Amino acid sequence: MAGLASPIGELRPAYDAVVVGSGYGGGVAASRLARMGLAVAVLERGREFLPGDFPRDPLAAQRELQISGEVLGRPYHVGARSALVDVRVGDDVHVVQGCGLGGTSLFNANVCLAPDDRVFDDAAWPAGVRMDRALLLGYARARGMLQPERLPDTANPLKIANLERSAAALGAAVTRVPLHIAFEPRTNAAGVLQPACTLCGDCMGGCNVGAKTTVHSSYLADAVAFGARLFTEAGVRSVERLRQGGWRVLMTDIAALGTRDIPVRAVTARIVVIAAGTLGTTEIRRFYIGPFAEIAEKEDHLAAPAAEGVGDERRRDERRAACEQDRGGGEVAVTGRPQQAGTFGGARFHERVGERVGEQRAGRLERQGEQPGQHPPGHPTAIMPASKTRGCTLWASGERAGR
Ligand SMILES: Cc1cc2nc3c(=O)[nH]c(=O)nc-3n(C[C@H](O)[C@H](O)[C@H](O)COP(=O)(O)OP(=O)(O)OC[C@H]3O[C@@H](n4cnc5c(N)ncnc54)[C@H](O)[C@@H]3O)c2cc1C
Ligand code: SF4
Repeated sequence: MAGLASPIGELRPAYDAVVVGSGYGGGVAASRLARMGLAVAVLERGREFLPGDFPRDPLAAQRELQISGEVLGRPYHVGARSALVDVRVGDDVHVVQGCGLGGTSLFNANVCLAPDDRVFDDAAWPAGVRMDRALLLGYARARGMLQPERLPDTANPLKIANLERSAAALGAAVTRVPLHIAFEPRTNAAGVLQPACTLCGDCMGGCNVGAKTTVHSSYLADAVAFGARLFTEAGVRSVERLRQGGWRVLMTDIAALGTRDIPVRAVTARIVVIAAGTLGTTEIRRFYIGPFAEIAEKEDHLAAPAAEGVGDERRRDERRAACEQDRGGGEVAVTGRPQQAGTFGGARFHERVGERVGEQRAGRLERQGEQPGQHPPGHPTAIMPASKTRGCTLWASGERAGR
């Protein structure tokens, strides 16, 4: 498929709507806003990857890795700021997230499942979220765009047999889960041609075939078809409410980092959607002026810049809490050597987990996971076993695995 990004030099000073981040959140927003006829700009800190651009060997995979954390209270960052896989190392929780046009969808495991009803039964969610039946409409629309398919019965990779053996020992059944993959050549809902999956198993390194339906090949392609402009290596730093109404978004040209003059660009818009992922969204500074001062106070912890310490501590606590909540689950099934495509099956183990987490009627879907062929030892996927001793790994905003 052809590239979707526009050169940053073509960024206009003002748009109707600016979307920050281009994962599922940003992609859906861009597509909807563009379909409404608005002038939309999407700002993404990462680069554009087309099928064929993803790493094919360990050295290339290593180059597409950035790792950051803190040692003795001092922050460090290793790797290019626009590298595809962004790993945040914490004391006891690590986060793996995407950096590229299409966000974490570029190398996630393609599994398309709606959360179990019990997730939103939990009183921990605000009532507005629990009662939001529009979510059901959202799922239906997402399936319409992403067109998930199950691995055809004619394909029987060894990993499915292995998962069935593990599940049988625990009295559970294995189902072939719906995946964002084209198993036959097709033109998808955004009009993009997708060749058939070759079952190569590299989904979690990035699909070089084009069979994987990412946000890039779906929502972003749709947004561009309706006039949106996408800009890469645009790292948004802050969003500021303007006295006269609207917003100003300030960004850094990531490609120029390390040079003497790092251009800082500004763009204004009536609507700004911040969809930079769980961590990215909290890292962007937000300023509210005048009547919005009250909002600024309420949301201060969300906007907390790294230097302020308090927000850092709170974010750490939130991550710890997420980790604690996850304790008591089952094991992650790892089927050993790469054996064809990323994730094809899953098994549910409700009761066993329900017993272990006490009051909360929990359920858990176990999936087999594996390292794509191009990943070297030491790649984030290797954190899964390593984190068994150190804590847990959050897979971007959606998943937890690997304790
Ligand atoms: C290995 C792995 C496997 C997974 N498998 C599955 C799966 O099978 N099924 C499933 O449902 N979920 C899966 N997930 C989770 C899923 O991919 C995420 O929940 C989802 O991608 C989150 O979407 P998002 O839009 O919130 O954020 P993201 O997809 O992370 O997108 C955020 C985007 O914002 C950009 N950004 C961040 N900061 C800035 C900034 N300051 N300026 C500009 N841009 C910025 C980032 O570069 C990124 O592109 C997996 C995740 C991982 C890591
Ligand atoms: S198995 Fe290979 S061809 Fe199929 S979607 Fe995954 S990376 Fe693409």
